[in-house]
Amino acid sequence: MSNNVLNTLKNIIQDVNEASGLDQALSIIVQRTRQAMKADAVAAYFLDNKTNQLVLMASDGYNQDAIGKIRFNLDQGLVGLVFNQTEPVNIENARTHPNYRFVTETGEIIFHGFLGVPIIQHRHALGVLVVRQTQQRRFSENDETFLVTLAAQLAGAITHAEKMGDLNRLLHDSNATSFSLKGIGGSPGIAIGEALVIYPPASLSAVPDNAISSEEIEPQIKAFNEAVDNVEREFRELAERMAGSIPDEELALFDVLCLMLRSETLVDVVIERIRAGQWAQGALRETINDHVKQFNAMDDAYLRERAADIKDLGQRVLTYLQSQKNNKKAISTPVVLVGEEINVSQFSEVPLKYLAGIISTRGSASSHVAILSNALGIPSVMGVDDLPVSKIKGQQIIVDGHGGEIHVKPSKTVLDEFDRLLKEEKLLNSELEALIDQPSETLDGIHIPLYANTGLLEDITPSLKSGAEGVGLYRTEIPFLIRDGFPGEEEQARIYQQVLQRFSPRPVTFRTLDIGGDKALPYFPIAEENPFLGWRGIRIMLDHPEIFLTQIRAILKSNRFDNNLRLMLPMISDTGEVDEAIELIQQAHEELSSQDINVPYPVIGIMIEVPSAAYQIAALSKRVDFFSIGSNDLTQYLLAVDRNNKQVAGLYSSLHPSVLQCIQQIIGAAHKNNKPVSVCGEMAGNPASALALVGMGIDSLSMSVGNLLRVKRVIRSFTQKQACDLLTQAMQMEKASDIRALFKDAIEQAGLNLYVRQ
Ligand code: PEP
Ligand code: MG
Repeated sequence: MSNNVLNTLKNIIQDVNEASGLDQALSIIVQRTRQAMKADAVAAYFLDNKTNQLVLMASDGYNQDAIGKIRFNLDQGLVGLVFNQTEPVNIENARTHPNYRFVTETGEIIFHGFLGVPIIQHRHALGVLVVRQTQQRRFSENDETFLVTLAAQLAGAITHAEKMGDLNRLLHDSNATSFSLKGIGGSPGIAIGEALVIYPPASLSAVPDNAISSEEIEPQIKAFNEAVDNVEREFRELAERMAGSIPDEELALFDVLCLMLRSETLVDVVIERIRAGQWAQGALRETINDHVKQFNAMDDAYLRERAADIKDLGQRVLTYLQSQKNNKKAISTPVVLVGEEINVSQFSEVPLKYLAGIISTRGSASSHVAILSNALGIPSVMGVDDLPVSKIKGQQIIVDGHGGEIHVKPSKTVLDEFDRLLKEEKLLNSELEALIDQPSETLDGIHIPLYANTGLLEDITPSLKSGAEGVGLYRTEIPFLIRDGFPGEEEQARIYQQVLQRFSPRPVTFRTLDIGGDKALPYFPIAEENPFLGWRGIRIMLDHPEIFLTQIRAILKSNRFDNNLRLMLPMISDTGEVDEAIELIQQAHEELSSQDINVPYPVIGIMIEVPSAAYQIAALSKRVDFFSIGSNDLTQYLLAVDRNNKQVAGLYSSLHPSVLQCIQQIIGAAHKNNKPVSVCGEMAGNPASALALVGMGIDSLSMSVGNLLRVKRVIRSFTQKQACDLLTQAMQMEKASDIRALFKDAIEQAGLNLYVRQ
């Protein structure tokens, strides 16, 4: 395709993406396609699900009265043919084709040339895009590829525009209610609350517009003034530090910057914009942009260069604005955090007791934010990519973590229904509470200890209350994620010690820092093309022994009093990594001894979450004391399905026959080498997959506490023999969906249907 054609395509798609609703999107498509293809008419037909007909929704070149009137049954006309074949149809003279059906509503114009292509999204045909010519015209191969490429990219933009239209109507019409969007269930449960929108720290040019209410004006002005004060202070300190080491005229630049910062054209204009209803960050962006444009337009090269200074000033003020955690105090009712990519540090912006639910436009069920919401028992929905985050601030929202759906501004009927479900859920939870002190034992008396996955100090109490027999996975990266810099040895030791003490005498498994992949520390950025196959977990730690040794010393030291520590290494893909890590652990242990800090040498285990490690269990058994299967990553790496990518989320399943076979062989090999093996990925907390693991002879399971009692209930309802028999049947099956259905049915037949609602 030539550059020109590519540009045309890009421009059309961009404009469609920005359309405010379906009508606008479709009219852009038909007009611009007609121009680009020099055609006499372009028409867009969409499937009407109620009548199962293809309906003309927009056209450029047909009589406009025909819109909504021309309808084809799916087996009718060339339009039906394109739809059914899901392939382009290109005919010089449509009237000679046996499928041709003449429709008069087009305006009595006789067309000959016909090119139709299907509009397909995620394997489903949504409609047909048709280009017509009055003359006989066989469209060229280039025309055909242009239209196919356009249609392939339009499907997503069209559904997006449709959602925007519905949402705009909802927000502008005070009587309109209920707008639902599908995502992926991140953590089960139902939450109802007001949307609190979180914006990620962005560069100045990427700051979105955000309208504020009149009560927010003064706090926003205050925040802006404080940010300006901070930047000024920063400049004065820098100037002081540099005095003597740089020439005076360079030093004077700091005064110039301070003057610019305090100038009326900056401060007053920003404040004016805030008073007009724009939030401080947006007002700053607009004002800085105006200044930059003015400087760029100047003839004098020196002044033009000042554009860069003013941009830098703006970015510095923005950094202070973004670091102000100004939401914390104001919240006193349940909120639903909504953001493009919610991260762990943003959790701390809301007091946990008011954090009702979480919605993220990115990510999927095994993303870390989903796991964390699970750990905290907060319902969440991930991957709601059609949600225009900035528009729903303050709206009432229902988060349905079971169905992976959200409802904005729900109608009374919808709200009543979810209220009822919420009550039912509470009842179920109170029934489950009776199991807290009951053993996690199969009906034939096999004890399967259930441990908690945690990582926040806040969720220790729920973990303790759930009856967990210890912590099977403490994700140590979480305390690192919610700070502004690496925590020091003493600070880490204090946190770890609290966890060990509170669980004592129960064991606590600390996993060493597992960053990289989708877990980036704000103060240790890693930019990679392919982060899940890159610098992650133990790989980073071995490359940075100073960080690893500090953590190991802190962990070992914290075990001084209770001696209930187990140490676990993530992302092991090679025996060499284990050897090197153990050497460092020994070094840390010796360093402590030399300081007269005498602590026991730890029990060491590794996570099996990379296929290469799964097939080296015998060699690894010589080096470590236990294994824990990280099924989240193991599934991602075995199936080549990114755990965060909604597009392929349908392919991600820990009950895939290959995943089950791999886990079965890990368990077999570990037992042959007399090593215990646990599962600490999300599949351990899912009743159906937990039952499969029991059938495989797993020694223990570690999960988000929200799931613990449900899993205990299921374990207590089956014999291990039954679980084994089910597994034998499952291993004959060829599809994850069949395996899931098998275990789900068995659980339902045991009278536990509410436990497998997900
Ligand atoms: C896993 O991969 O299954 C696991 C428990 O680790 P994480 O989810 O933190 O990557
Ligand atoms: Mg993992």
